Amino acid sequence: MQSGNSVKDSLDMLVKKWPVDKKLYDMQVGMRDDIVDNQVNVGGVVFHVPALSRDGLYVLWKCLWPDCHNCCERQGRLPLTKDDITTIAKKLGYDSKVEFVRNEARVSSWQEQEAFGNIITTLSMLSLKRKKDEREEEDGTPLRCRFLDDKGYCGIHPDKPGVCWLYPFASWLESDRFGKPVVHATFQFTGDCPGFYLDKSLDSIMPVLQEYAPKIYSYNMAVQRTTRENYGFINFVNLDNMPDQS
Ligand code: SF4
Ligand code: SF4
Repeated sequence: MQSGNSVKDSLDMLVKKWPVDKKLYDMQVGMRDDIVDNQVNVGGVVFHVPALSRDGLYVLWKCLWPDCHNCCERQGRLPLTKDDITTIAKKLGYDSKVEFVRNEARVSSWQEQEAFGNIITTLSMLSLKRKKDEREEEDGTPLRCRFLDDKGYCGIHPDKPGVCWLYPFASWLESDRFGKPVVHATFQFTGDCPGFYLDKSLDSIMPVLQEYAPKIYSYNMAVQRTTRENYGFINFVNLDNMPDQS
């Protein structure tokens, strides 16, 4: 999760290279008070699609790759599921996962806040180093990923970390009223993606949601397995249940 100011800094860099609608700019820097949540259930994932209610416009997204590869130029962290560790260790030529982790990964910890509610999730996971000599204090700061080549291709595709398949979606698990876990997803607005646009209808994003739903669902299951098997851990803090601090 990025603070309002760092999102603004990122957007100010982005607008030098890409056109960004003024309404979308204002929304991402927290200057709109009319954002409403629209829930769209696709393939077992509840997508939260924001809309600007005064303008009657949905905030939608499509990827502009290969013209854009800004998310790889400005990567914040690359958390690894257990499956990622197995696949990427092999891809990089390691016989030993322990050696892979020792040389290529480090521990990251961060907080995610559910987009339209009060649940804060604290996660700690092993993360793939974005540069060989990545330091702990660089966690969460944008870095050009070492696997990105000059033409915008990923050197470890298709074995890249699960998170790389999902950007700019953020996803999380929530229990429904019967206690069954449900996968939710929404856009993360880091200020780095020029692919957002506004539309009166959801029609144009439906194929995108259909494409991403299975990836997001499997990724959440992989994260569950990863934390269950102690490769990382998740802590939920529900602010609704916190004592009143005021
Ligand atoms: S920054 Fe956005 S538009 Fe650009 S490659 Fe990444 S997801 Fe696609
Ligand atoms: S691993 Fe590949 S897809 Fe992921 S940030 Fe690096 S270059 Fe981009």
